[in-house]
Amino acid sequence: MQKTNKKEIKRYKSVFFDFGGTLMNAESDNIAHLHMMEDIIQKYNLSVRPEDLVTKYNSFLFTKEMTLLDSYPEDKSFTPLRESTKKAFIGILSEYNVRPSKEDYHWFKKMYFENHKKYVKLFPETLEIIKHLRNHKSIHIGIISDIDNDYQDFQFKVFGIKEMFDSITTSEEVKSYKPESKIFQVALKKAGCRGEESIMVGDSYKKDIIGGKNMGMTTIWINKFSGDDTDKDKADFIVKDLKEISPILDKLIK
Ligand SMILES: [Mg+2]
Repeated sequence: MQKTNKKEIKRYKSVFFDFGGTLMNAESDNIAHLHMMEDIIQKYNLSVRPEDLVTKYNSFLFTKEMTLLDSYPEDKSFTPLRESTKKAFIGILSEYNVRPSKEDYHWFKKMYFENHKKYVKLFPETLEIIKHLRNHKSIHIGIISDIDNDYQDFQFKVFGIKEMFDSITTSEEVKSYKPESKIFQVALKKAGCRGEESIMVGDSYKKDIIGGKNMGMTTIWINKFSGDDTDKDKADFIVKDLKEISPILDKLIK
């Protein structure tokens, strides 16, 4: 659905994608978390169902819309995600009176990466969409993601997609999360263009759409949950699925 029609005369120079839930299937991330919980249950001999433990784990990390919680609201400095997941790991174990040691945390980190490597998947159409976008030779294709550098690097290598992007900008690199403008500013600088010359594609209204609009970007919101969006009227385009964005991008970029 196109919401506005005033973008026709623009010449776009870049397209940026969010990663989690946009190019990467968030459901598969949940499956990775479920397997992590199975490993934790086994290691610490806990009597809880993995489904219940994952709910608990997620409650330390996400709001009910699955947006990242600010784990350290009192701390104004930037907290990387690995600190938040560590806090979640400690949090769930503390409910079973287990206090993890340094070795336990090393184990957790390794197990975290292994399960993500095994279970996290891109959407089936992700590669095709990026390859198709590559036909527009002069377009800069970038990633703007709330993600840690090591995890981003790891996951992109697992998928073999690192080379498909002209730039990757992470929250850890700029020490702030979307929708704050810093991550967008750094990404735009890498692309050598202004917000008005850019398109932002993302699944989070608050982070990707508001963040992008604040920079003057044209935004495509992948609204999978199709919940009440009457107060969410800033997106230029709203789609239900990643599949639907190619014709929109083709039309915008020409
Ligand atoms: Mg996302």
